[in-house]
Amino acid sequence: MQDTGQWSPRQHMGRRWPIGCVALEVTQRCNLDCALCYLSESSQAIADPPLAEIFRRIESILAWYGEGTDVQITGGEPTLRPRAELAAIVRRVRAAGLRPSLFTNGIRARRDLLAELAQAGLEDVAFHVDLTQQRRGFRTERELDALRAEYLERARGLPLAVIFNTSVCEATLDEVPDTARFFLRHAAAVRMASFQLHADTGRGVLRGRGPRVSAAAVAARIQRGIGAALSFDAMDIGHARCNRYAMALVAGGRAFDLLDEPAFVQRMLDDTALLRFERRKSRATLAALAGWALRSSSRLPACAAWLARKAWRMRGALAASRGRVHKLSFFVHDFMHACELDPERIAACSFMVATRDGPVSMCLHNAARDAYLLPPGTAPVTLTRKTARGTARERLAAAR
Ligand code: SF4
Repeated sequence: MQDTGQWSPRQHMGRRWPIGCVALEVTQRCNLDCALCYLSESSQAIADPPLAEIFRRIESILAWYGEGTDVQITGGEPTLRPRAELAAIVRRVRAAGLRPSLFTNGIRARRDLLAELAQAGLEDVAFHVDLTQQRRGFRTERELDALRAEYLERARGLPLAVIFNTSVCEATLDEVPDTARFFLRHAAAVRMASFQLHADTGRGVLRGRGPRVSAAAVAARIQRGIGAALSFDAMDIGHARCNRYAMALVAGGRAFDLLDEPAFVQRMLDDTALLRFERRKSRATLAALAGWALRSSSRLPACAAWLARKAWRMRGALAASRGRVHKLSFFVHDFMHACELDPERIAACSFMVATRDGPVSMCLHNAARDAYLLPPGTAPVTLTRKTARGTARERLAAAR
């Protein structure tokens, strides 16, 4: 029988938190027209939900999942909302005891906006940058590193954890090592690099996923790019076919697997399940971990021995970096195709959307987006929406 990871001792969900994260879609509008896009043909024409409705959904996230839940403020492109409203949404999420992240393509996420949102309580900013967005003037993922570096500069010094999202399709799969190397070089500023596999859903014009694209193929290329083997199977977040997660320690430009001792990782998972860490405060996190280890005489020797083994393995890199170490996480997310939803994965979903009727699995939501967004009885927009590149029907024909 396939190991779904749901009931394994490696499982995070249901122990550390009840859900991985909840998307709060504050607009359906977007200022890009990506070849992979989970929005629907109706999205651009849908009015933004009023603030009162957004606030009601924030309360419902709290009621469903409790304090400390990660809330992705997303869309469409959330920065298309008036700035004062976006700040009010961030403040409201924070005031509810939830953890707000901004998921943006970065175009309008200027430094002054990020500074204002950080002041309002934003915890992370996640920039989505990749070739499938068809930004003008970029032909390879490596060329897009200039844009990634620019976005990093915008967030530099702000109390925000920085995440990068990268969609991967057949045409860009072999560029994953280059992109992973960029994140390795910028490990001091990047907290997590998340890769999403091509899913055949929504209004995007790229259809069937190429035969080589899989979570294993992306994980292999990440490891090739950073020049280190990582344990992508040490932890589960929801269903094992949905998410793969690994953590690296980076020192002196080299990466080292943080999760390479499964027994120790599982013990840590058990013992620290109730500890809460603020991602944007790494020193406070380290202090909380040290305090936790010191409070128990049985934990201390095991933790000290693990630390000593890691330091010994990394000794050359630590000497080169003069003791400076950064943590860099890699996440691979395998969204499902709209026509191939697996009920088992939907039931174990770790990534929900806060709809007007409560939380719904993101894959299910994407497969029937109009049903959740349009008033009952409204006919969805069909493939006739005119964009700069023609109607969706014309683009589909050209892509075949
Ligand atoms: S959104 Fe889809 S791929 Fe992601 S966790 Fe939920 S069911 Fe799995």
